[in-house]
Amino acid sequence: MRLQKYMAHSGAASRRKSEEYILEGRVKVNDEIVKELGYIVDPEKDRVYLDGKRLKIIKKHTYILLNKPLGVVSTASDEKGRRTVIDLVENDSRLYPVGRLDIDTTGLILLTDDGEVTNKLTHPKNIIEKKYIATVEGRPNKNELNILRKGVMVGREKYAPAKVKILKAFEKDSIIEVVIHEGKNHQVKLMFEKINHPVKKLKRISIGDLELGDLEVGNYRYLNEEEVKYLK
Ligand code: URA
Repeated sequence: MRLQKYMAHSGAASRRKSEEYILEGRVKVNDEIVKELGYIVDPEKDRVYLDGKRLKIIKKHTYILLNKPLGVVSTASDEKGRRTVIDLVENDSRLYPVGRLDIDTTGLILLTDDGEVTNKLTHPKNIIEKKYIATVEGRPNKNELNILRKGVMVGREKYAPAKVKILKAFEKDSIIEVVIHEGKNHQVKLMFEKINHPVKKLKRISIGDLELGDLEVGNYRYLNEEEVKYLK
């Protein structure tokens, strides 16, 4: 990391001001005064001082809420070179998605460089509810929906009870609100396959208190302080 960037991230001064301090000979790296702008420091190993006072980086994490479009993969990089959710944001942090959405699922996905928040949200015991809007084939009847409400068996695995509610029913398909707290692979699709009403379209609209709102597909926003506090 460039020295002036390190200084700015420590809260000592702006990047421009830090450059002035460097040129004035007020900055030391380990035991040497450094007057070279752009001098590279290793934030893990080097000690940086301004006027003899040690500067330490304040680690500020980034939290982004993205409306994932169709055809984009929710991994940090893709071996097949497909567009990833990380490609959609302009940010220098080492971001990665929290959990996964299928390539053909749209909606709310979080991107962050905060490993603790990621672990918390993706931990199997996590009970934060995720809400989806699913368009499924046909119109599931009460008995079928009750299977999902009780917790359906998929293979040898019992899925936790889901909240399901028909929002609209058309001649050929229905729009259903689905709330689950587990994050198993293809969970919503497998649940509806099991009751013979395959999912045609799927969108995630909330994770706990975090809502997609009217954010356009492909757009993103940074979480506000209250939302970050909620996640921690
Ligand atoms: N369930 C699915 O089937 N797919 C997703 O992308 C998310 C939940």
